[in-house]
Amino acid sequence: MSISFSDESFAEAITTTSALPEDGNEVSLRPRYLNEYVGQAKAKENLEVFIEAAKLRGEPLDHVLLSGPPGLGKTTLASIIANEMSVNMRITSGPTIEKPGDLVALLTNLQPNDILFVDEIHRLNHQVEEILYPAMEDYVIDIIIGKGPSANSIRLNLPKFTLIGATTRSGQLTAPLRDRFGVVLRLELYNVAELQRIVERSAGILGVSIEREGAEEIAKRSRGTPRIANRMLRRVRDFAQVRADGVITREVADAALTRLEVDHMGLDALDRRMLRSIIEFYHGGPVGLETLAATINEEAVTLEDVYEPYLLQQGFLTRTPRGRCVTQKAYAHLNIPFMGQSSLEL
Ligand code: ADP
Repeated sequence: MSISFSDESFAEAITTTSALPEDGNEVSLRPRYLNEYVGQAKAKENLEVFIEAAKLRGEPLDHVLLSGPPGLGKTTLASIIANEMSVNMRITSGPTIEKPGDLVALLTNLQPNDILFVDEIHRLNHQVEEILYPAMEDYVIDIIIGKGPSANSIRLNLPKFTLIGATTRSGQLTAPLRDRFGVVLRLELYNVAELQRIVERSAGILGVSIEREGAEEIAKRSRGTPRIANRMLRRVRDFAQVRADGVITREVADAALTRLEVDHMGLDALDRRMLRSIIEFYHGGPVGLETLAATINEEAVTLEDVYEPYLLQQGFLTRTPRGRCVTQKAYAHLNIPFMGQSSLEL
């Protein structure tokens, strides 16, 4: 077996929040019921009440909107809702529903109380979205048959169902769509203690020996995101098997993650490049997102959705009306002397 820990693309990939092929068996690590779902106390508490109430009334759950950065457990939570309600869930995503007919086909195939999960719901096109309004509100769809003066509108009744929408950008949802969700839950980045529990739980399922401190080290470096924590666990396990008798201790986790260029605060090469560019080219900011993206040759949406949430949460970056600024903490982290910034709001 040959494992190259110095491969750069390998290092870059580890902190991506998008699902990678290597996460393929994510399903086995997915909690199936609310009591296995770690963290997100507020969202869980609310859901528990809504689920209980819907079950008592024998009705489907109100439509649910889940928002938050990728990898925080939106899809997982949707499938938990389906399990808790004992109903089926159909999974689709905004960009794959191209025509109104695609959505009509999905809706008319639902069984009573089923869940339709639409990932990236902010990317639905307008025509498709319009079909959703009456479907969500009155469980009907209006289909137009024929063209011109002879066109006829037929109303089709749908079974009562629950729409669960997931989005990384709730601000991009149109108001009419957002207003039709009865339950709106925002998932937050996880803290270290929660991520440690997730790592320990996953290690148990994967049959990996891990010490508390090893799990804590992975938790600290996984940027608040369970998907990354689980991925790091797998990579550290490989390292432990090859170099350290298979047991993940703090030292093993540290050595493996340092080789993968993830530092003690969980920042990867791109995070550091982003912060360093703001300091070197824009005197610490403010700099507009698009300008910054062009400077470091990345997509602005990637910076905003994937990189910024953690940098903001950790206090390395601030958002001001005039653009992004780095903080003194970022200077200190990168070992760059802080000369003071007149325009920085710290
Ligand atoms: P999203 O849909 O928000 O991108 P997922 O639901 O696919 O994220 O979650 C990614 C992975 O992280 C899941 O496979 C699951 O193993 C893990 N995960 C997410 N949230 C939790 C949680 N609260 N507790 C335990 N594991 C979680």
